Amino acid sequence: MRIALAGNPNSGKTTLFNALTGSIEHVGNWPGVTVARKEGYVKKQLNTNQNIRIVDLPGTYSMSPFTSEERITKDYVQSEQPDVIINIIDASNLSRSLFFTTQLLSLGVPVVIALNKWDLIAKKAIDIDLVHLSKDLNCPIIEVSALRQKGLKTLLDTCIERKGTIQKPVFTERTDANLNKEEWLIEENERSSFVAQLVKHVEKRSIDSHQMNFNDQIDRIVAHPFFGIPIFVVILYGVFSISQATLGPFLADYFVGWIDLFYAIVADLMGNQVSPFLQALVLDGVIGGVGAIVGFLPLIMVLFFMLALLEDSGYMARVALIMDPYLKKVGLSGRSIIPMVISTGCAIPGIMSTRTIRDERQRRTTAMLTSFMPCGAKLPVIALFAGVFFQDAAWVGTLMYFMGILIIFFGAIVIRKINGDTSKASYFIMELPEYRIPSLKRAFIAMISQGKQFVIKAVTIILLSNILVQIMQTFSWNLQLVEEGAEASSILASIATPIALILVPLGFGVWQLAAAAITGFIAKENVVGTLAVVFGITNFIDVEALEVVSGTGEISSIMGITTIAALAYLVFNLFTPPCFAAIGAMNAELDSKKWLLGAIGFQLGMGYTLAYFIYQIGTLITTGQFGHGLFLGFLIVSFYIGSIVYLIKRNDQSQMTLQGA
Ligand code: GDP
Repeated sequence: MRIALAGNPNSGKTTLFNALTGSIEHVGNWPGVTVARKEGYVKKQLNTNQNIRIVDLPGTYSMSPFTSEERITKDYVQSEQPDVIINIIDASNLSRSLFFTTQLLSLGVPVVIALNKWDLIAKKAIDIDLVHLSKDLNCPIIEVSALRQKGLKTLLDTCIERKGTIQKPVFTERTDANLNKEEWLIEENERSSFVAQLVKHVEKRSIDSHQMNFNDQIDRIVAHPFFGIPIFVVILYGVFSISQATLGPFLADYFVGWIDLFYAIVADLMGNQVSPFLQALVLDGVIGGVGAIVGFLPLIMVLFFMLALLEDSGYMARVALIMDPYLKKVGLSGRSIIPMVISTGCAIPGIMSTRTIRDERQRRTTAMLTSFMPCGAKLPVIALFAGVFFQDAAWVGTLMYFMGILIIFFGAIVIRKINGDTSKASYFIMELPEYRIPSLKRAFIAMISQGKQFVIKAVTIILLSNILVQIMQTFSWNLQLVEEGAEASSILASIATPIALILVPLGFGVWQLAAAAITGFIAKENVVGTLAVVFGITNFIDVEALEVVSGTGEISSIMGITTIAALAYLVFNLFTPPCFAAIGAMNAELDSKKWLLGAIGFQLGMGYTLAYFIYQIGTLITTGQFGHGLFLGFLIVSFYIGSIVYLIKRNDQSQMTLQGA
């Protein structure tokens, strides 16, 4: 037998799913665990004689045919015909939940309502007339507490009973598929008033003033439209200083100590018997490369842990609320702030966390832009260039974060202009869960599962690319070892040279720098590693300590580029597409080849254009004339800007045709 589980976000769907199937999952709104399709079998203790499969449907407030997530429920029920739908409802939030319920009731599949959070009802002094409600809805209602695992057996037994029965809808609606948006909105309004009537009938609330006041009083300060923002900044600063400056690095040091030890042992074991190529491959490529990532891991895990605590306490929902009006102005959503914060650790979970943004365009826009925030892997690149060319100036890093934010805002405006504004039609319901003491266990589970994903993605990709770079660097096309002094004959050099030509207008048309930028697309940490390999500088940066360890003048002269070009190179590396793994995540979240290509094109063009202007204008200011390749760069940049303008124009025109029709 197959049961589909459907309900509003925050109704306790994940908790119920886990209680029924027995698997442990991260509980919370973010990073969107209720959105991916989950299935599981009911655990033995709850039901001995039947094999019941539970399918978890995405948490949603309605089934509008106009957004992709909301269509999932309807499509799934119609195509796969589950035997029963369990509609989970937050008992303390009846009026909002029943809207969706009335939609589910008309799908033709028997529905059983699980009235969840029943344990809260007495505390909140809410009185619900279940007999009446059940009669009005034509379906059984079972009181449950997913959290305390109460009522689950009765719920399943009722589902088994209902299998094969007929569900009568309570609300007659038009079912024709080509309902237009206005007609649909009218129908939804009628539905709302139907639900309001119903709730008035069955629910009595005597407001518990103590409970209301506690949350309200905190919110009066924390979610204040004006003071909320400085409070957020202070909290964020706290999170970053703990994860990036104190506890994180402390743990990282400890980790790196172990890796160094391992490195030394392996080096010792290999001794002189192994060829230098194999030694370099294993020691620098494999252990060094993977070690660089593992060195970052504690920083990122501490960040995940603290963000999970904040989320669990109910604070993140307030942040989304206070940021919403500002982000809406550029076509993003309040929820976009969370992916952006996570992306400062790593863009991959940042992009994945966009799933909780309900509006499709806002979600895609955020997934496309959030990786412009400098992530942990970009820090060594920033540190290297700040150290070598700018005497470790702190403004370099600050400027990069600032630019990232500006690009996101700019990009959001551009994307809205290209796609037209759809967000007006979707009304926004903001979930404000009650404050509570965050659970260390849940935060720990969230940290481990996200850390694991990060390691798997990062380590597999970086391992492969390091080995590949090492091989391409060591051999020429006819598989001869490259002689010292003839590095330009290596496979790597011959691939990077034509690309270097395109980079001439940016001030760094040198094959070594091109090669490092290419490997940077595989993973940003590679930029530093590849530069070290191709310029033959050993010990050129201590990645874990993020410090440049050898003399500065020497390295900048080896690279053979000006300070302005170095800044352009840094900007190019930071603001072109992040890395393959992040592009993979973007592919999954955007779920559209057109959007993915658009995203990659936008990012490539953005990095190139910024680097071009920095190099050319900077060179003009410092030397009195433009840099190399002014014209070629101008052509490329014009093509980029022209494409954007063309796409915006095209949208304007289609808008006009629509209005004219
Ligand atoms: P989802 O968004 O629908 O998947 O909801 P979750 O399962 O993440 O639950 C949302 C919040 O409600 C969490 O803080 C849960 O701990 C809480 N919750 C879930 N079920 C119950 C319940 O039966 N009683 C109480 N008091 N809280 C619950």
